[in-house]
Amino acid sequence: MPALSAAEGSSVLKGLKDLITLRATPILITGSTMTDRLYYSNSFLYDFDAEVRSVVETPRPAVVLDRTAFYPTSGGQIHDTGWLVSADTKHRVTEVADTEDGHIVHYLEAPLKDVQPGTRVRGEIDPARRRDHMQQHSAQHVLSAAFVRLFNMPTVSFHMADDYCSIDLDTPSLAKDQIESAERLSNQIILENRPVDIRFVPRDEAEKLGLRKLPPTGRDQLRLIDIRDFDLTACGGTHVSNTGQIGSILLRKTEKARHGYRLEFVAGERAVLTARRDFSTLTETAALFSAHLHDVPQQARKSLDEIKTLRKQCEQSLEDLAAAQAATLLTETPETNGRKLIVRAFTGRDLNFLKLLAQKLTRQSPAAIALLATESPQPALVFAQSAGQPFDMGARLKQTLAQLGGRGGGSKDLAQGGAPTSEGLAAALAAAAQSLIP
Ligand SMILES: [Zn+2]
Repeated sequence: MPALSAAEGSSVLKGLKDLITLRATPILITGSTMTDRLYYSNSFLYDFDAEVRSVVETPRPAVVLDRTAFYPTSGGQIHDTGWLVSADTKHRVTEVADTEDGHIVHYLEAPLKDVQPGTRVRGEIDPARRRDHMQQHSAQHVLSAAFVRLFNMPTVSFHMADDYCSIDLDTPSLAKDQIESAERLSNQIILENRPVDIRFVPRDEAEKLGLRKLPPTGRDQLRLIDIRDFDLTACGGTHVSNTGQIGSILLRKTEKARHGYRLEFVAGERAVLTARRDFSTLTETAALFSAHLHDVPQQARKSLDEIKTLRKQCEQSLEDLAAAQAATLLTETPETNGRKLIVRAFTGRDLNFLKLLAQKLTRQSPAAIALLATESPQPALVFAQSAGQPFDMGARLKQTLAQLGGRGGGSKDLAQGGAPTSEGLAAALAAAAQSLIP
């Protein structure tokens, strides 16, 4: 078995998690030969026979086999799932990981019964998941090569998640038309259905082949993925045998990343599912506007402009209303000891309106004392006095709020606060008024 290397940048967090898991698992493996990786030579091998090398029950049930077609999380690609069959019982394989010494561990949902080193088992890969991973990973090779060919932008890492994939491009900028060009070229390569070959080559020979990416560590022999006349790179992943099997590539979100730009993409069936979901979302939005799909941005912009205008009109109307209401209240309220004490509780007015009204009252009259409250939408209070009046509204409000279990404060002339409920609000307001002008 040649020493092989996954050349892609890895999903660091996931890799760390695997290492921790593995270190915590005391796996004794009989013999020193590394697991024979059947997927290295055939990505379409979904069933295989193998011999159990070791069995672990705690902390997680797991087995190591002499050979396996299960792909362990590595090189940015996530692991296969599937089943191990022994004595007519199927056991779910939930995770597959590499050990540092070249073994592959199959984590199981439940312990394998009646299995020990030497037992023959049958492995079955979940074919839908494997096909999806092949589509995503081969799509990544095509896409990375397209960015190098078109714009000399190297890929520095690849990440595969359950719903989308991403590559990090080493570039100071990434324009929309560059993204579209790379997408177009990638889909053209897919359409041309070019062969994708696996080659095993000694490292010194590989160095002369002009690989897109060489693994950093010294390995005797490299596994190369060769997309005919388009891309040659060292990689340990599972790949399609012709680019047509990728189906299509759809580029999605871009964002600034540590080494340049992160670009999300979906390939194959994921591309169709994603486009379907986007279409549903847009259709639903278009229906809300009674507009055509392509007119949604224009309609949304128009609605936002309308909202802005209406908000301005609403603010002006409230301002006018507060001014008129203040004038009426001041006219209606007789002076006591040279002051006008205005006490009012509202419903359906917010704190901002109370503040606006208090402001108008105390500016329209030099002798106004305003104790205002609202029960809804949120119970709130505003206490204010015209400049030069002698009371401390901040302190008064705090006393009142203490009775109501609310919070707030302010200055000598203007204070505001909120209460948890409107219960007792009117009584507290009356008590505050009483204390000001007995
Ligand atoms: Zn790869």
